[in-house]
Amino acid sequence: MEKVTDIFGSLVFDDRVMKASLSASVYNSLKETINEGKKLDLSVANAVATAMKDWAIANGATHYTHWFQPLTGVTAEKHDSFISPAPDGRVIMEFSGKELIKGEPDASSFPSGGIRATFEARGYTAWDPTSFAFIKGKTLCIPTAFCSYGGEALDKKTPLLRSMEALSRQSMRVLKLFGHDEVKCVRSSVGPEQEYFLVDREMYNKRPDLIFTGRTLFGAKPPKGQEMDDHYFGVIKPRVAAFMSDLNEELWKLGILAKTEHNEVAPAQHELAPIYSTTNIATDHNQLTMEIMQKVALKHGLVCLLHEKPFAGVNGSGKHNNWSIATDTGINLLSPGETPYENLQFLLFLVATIKAVDEYQDLLRISVATAGNDHRLGANEAPPAVVSIFLGDELNAILEAIETDTPYAGTNKTNIKLGVDVLPKFPRDTTDRNRTSPFAFTGNKFEFRMLGSSNSIACANIMLNSAVADVLEGFADELEGAADFDAAAHALIVKTIKEHKRIIFNGNGYDDSWLEEAAKRGLSNYRTTPDCMPHLTDKKNAAMLARQKVYSKTELDSRCEIMLENYNKAVLIEANTMVDMAGKQIIPAIAGYAAELARAIGAKKAVCESIPCAYETGLVTKLSALADGAAADLAALEAVIVKVHAVSEVEAQAYAIRDELIPAMEKLRAGCDEAEGMTSSKYWPFPTYGDLLFVVK
Ligand code: ADP
Ligand code: MG
Repeated sequence: MEKVTDIFGSLVFDDRVMKASLSASVYNSLKETINEGKKLDLSVANAVATAMKDWAIANGATHYTHWFQPLTGVTAEKHDSFISPAPDGRVIMEFSGKELIKGEPDASSFPSGGIRATFEARGYTAWDPTSFAFIKGKTLCIPTAFCSYGGEALDKKTPLLRSMEALSRQSMRVLKLFGHDEVKCVRSSVGPEQEYFLVDREMYNKRPDLIFTGRTLFGAKPPKGQEMDDHYFGVIKPRVAAFMSDLNEELWKLGILAKTEHNEVAPAQHELAPIYSTTNIATDHNQLTMEIMQKVALKHGLVCLLHEKPFAGVNGSGKHNNWSIATDTGINLLSPGETPYENLQFLLFLVATIKAVDEYQDLLRISVATAGNDHRLGANEAPPAVVSIFLGDELNAILEAIETDTPYAGTNKTNIKLGVDVLPKFPRDTTDRNRTSPFAFTGNKFEFRMLGSSNSIACANIMLNSAVADVLEGFADELEGAADFDAAAHALIVKTIKEHKRIIFNGNGYDDSWLEEAAKRGLSNYRTTPDCMPHLTDKKNAAMLARQKVYSKTELDSRCEIMLENYNKAVLIEANTMVDMAGKQIIPAIAGYAAELARAIGAKKAVCESIPCAYETGLVTKLSALADGAAADLAALEAVIVKVHAVSEVEAQAYAIRDELIPAMEKLRAGCDEAEGMTSSKYWPFPTYGDLLFVVK
């Protein structure tokens, strides 16, 4: 391998390349667009396009694409070559500013939730200059936002950028009150920790469920699971190590700051974490990371599973969204400072986040809701579907002391007077206690842990940024007019703690008693996607998102519909796959083995009536009963599928899936899994959990 410092960013049209290939005036205007959102002049765009094209061609590219993130959850691209006919019959390589700034992909086949009728197929992609263009294969990829003819967002980037703007706008107002006039913008930063599974490709290819749905729909528990805790942080096996090494190299070339890699709790489960960056970039990079992971795995004879719950009875995969807010001058607003005024500012941003998470706990839950993630949240796995915040003992004690105006033991037993006292440093809580919390303070950032492994991190951060922006707007409104700023800020902090401390929970989030306690506190507990998704358009949520100019009502309605539609489609595909596997593979296998046993009994009896065959008789009886049961469950499932298909309204269909289809699927699985444990492996039609989880060395 070449030196990391040489390959890092080698496929990115980054600042270094821009500086080298653009004139000073073009470079400066582009920087103004990137940093301050100034409008881009067409002459600048033309110059940038030419430089970009020359650089891309020099690096082996023949095509370009507007790279965007439609509501399918994966990224989309349509490649155009740079070629343009020349009068002499040959071609020249061309790329204009117009082509850089705007694209018009045929948008009719992307989900729009009724915003754009298919006859009005036009959709626009618009260049996002804040995220660098890069080369993938032979294609120059230009990160873009995707919207409809009428300007409604059809993607995840547009609302994310809007939410970042909202957060910046309102944070700046609060910062002004602290005299920070030098701050030009505020950005949220994210470091997403990505979990995934690796399985052998040949085994994967024998499992229709993995191929069609990304998870196993059948499978008895292996003799060994994760009970030994011997995988977490364990030695990385050679095949996996080779994959990780290749993956890092590919990611580094794309300027992605891949940093940490280790084995996770479940067998065959691993994690990759990059160094954090601005939310918009982190989102693009996470999408790319997921894509490259899958590509590199194939090269190593492996398949990378990004499903939230590939294996029943084994931990699923999530994504931890480490989130903070920082100024362009480099101050992390969630970092407790060194002086009293910084403390006051920190506490204001802290309680703003607490209030935002409490008031919009439903939006956070909704932002991670998918059919796959329903198997983690609210099922027998952490974190629970109830949103709560972990602050750690020390910070918690400080907030309590402030709220009740009582002495805080940590600071000379004095009552804390904000704007006067210095608070102690909060050590990053490294104990295991906080691992069960969905939203944990970790020293200078919050870690939102409810995201599923395949989720785009855009959704969670859109809600987080918007909610915090909205609370900060209220804070700024209140404090801007205050006669005595310190006193008003102090009073606001006390009031906010009082009103929103119900969301703070420092105990064990896995505990059933917490769910009872949470219900008493009035926290919402939406176990499934159909339970939570309709609340996306609740009045308070729609009003907040409109106030922050993140989503219009039309956009919100369409998203609600699309998310439910995605849920319905995902589960229906699973159900159909189960029908196929049970009908064509599993039940015939059970029946086949039962028939062999029956023949054996017959053969034995032919030799001598008294030869013992209790084993065969017992087994054939059990297997025959299980096969009959599975056949009945299969027929029942098929009937439910027909019934669910007949429900045309999307929300009603989602409820039917939750209440009827999923239970029917579970019933069929239970019988088949039981039979797997008794059927000769010679007959079993596909690799078992043991094969999938333990074979990669
Ligand atoms: P963990 O113990 O959860 O693995 P790490 O310190 O390794 O914690 O950080 C996890 C992620 O958090 C990394 O992606 C890291 O870059 C990111 N991170 C660290 N500081 C911040 C911050 N201020 N804002 C956002 N993300 C951060
Ligand atoms: Mg973490």
